[in-house]
Amino acid sequence: MNFAGGLHHAMPGSASGFCIYNDASLAIARLLELGAERVAYLDVDVHHGDGVQAAFWDDPRVLTISLHEHPGTLFPGTGWPEETGGPGEGEGSAVNVALPAGTGDDGWLRAFHAVVPELLRHFRPQVLVTQHGADTHFEDPLAHLAVSLDAQRLVQEACHSLVHECVEDGRWLALGGGGYAVVDVVPRSWTHLVGIAAHAPVDPESVIPSSWRDEVYARTRQLGPGRMTDGRTPAWRSWEDGYDPADRLDQAVLATRRALFPLRGMLP
Ligand SMILES: [Zn+2]
Repeated sequence: MNFAGGLHHAMPGSASGFCIYNDASLAIARLLELGAERVAYLDVDVHHGDGVQAAFWDDPRVLTISLHEHPGTLFPGTGWPEETGGPGEGEGSAVNVALPAGTGDDGWLRAFHAVVPELLRHFRPQVLVTQHGADTHFEDPLAHLAVSLDAQRLVQEACHSLVHECVEDGRWLALGGGGYAVVDVVPRSWTHLVGIAAHAPVDPESVIPSSWRDEVYARTRQLGPGRMTDGRTPAWRSWEDGYDPADRLDQAVLATRRALFPLRGMLP
C-alpha cells in the first residue's frame, strides 16, 4: 500500500492533473519488465485514470479498468465507454464506466459489482494494482459523486476478496490517489484500506483517538471526525437480478458492458 501514490493523470511525456510522475504506470511497467504477462489496474478515483490507460493503450498484457464521474461533467474529460484500447492487440484492454454525476453508494457499488468481478475472474491477473482516490465522497469539493466512507470501505474489501480469489498468490499493490476533503475523508478512507490490506481491518464503529483530533484541530482549526464511519449501511442490487434500461446508472453500466465485454469474448 502506498497512499502517497496513485498519481494516475501523469502522461508519459507530460504532467497533468496534480500528477508529475505516474507511479502506477511505472510500477506496472516494472512488473512487465520482470516478466509479468497479465497485470490488472483498477481505478476507483472519481476522475478517469487517463494516464495509466494511455500508457498501456496498445498493450494486451495490461487490463485497465476505471470507474469515474462522467467525462461530460468532470476533468479530464475522457473515460468514455467507447474507449476500449488501441486497435489490434490493444482492443479490449481498457474498460471505462462513466457514472452520472450524483451517483451515490447504491449506484456506485452496483456499477462496481456489475463490471469488475467478472472481468477479473476472466482475466486472471498475476498482480492487481488498485487506485483508491477518496474523491468519490459526498464531501469532496472537486467532484460530484455522493459516495460515503462506508461504501468506499466496502469497495476496498471487495478488492481484497477479489485479490484472494482471482490473483496468483494474492499479489496486490494498493495506491491512494485524489481526495480533497483532507480532514474528514481521506485519512479515514486510507486508514481502512491499510487495515484491510494488512488483514487487520478497523471496525467502522471505532472512535477516533482524541490525540489525532487534537492534532487536526491545532493544525487546521477544523474539528476532525469522531468515528471511522459515516453511519451508512449501503445496500446494492445485483446486476444479475436484472436492470432498467431507463435508469441512468444502468445505462452507464450497459454502455460499458456492450462496448467492452464482447471484445474480451464475454457476454455483454
Ligand atoms: Zn481524482
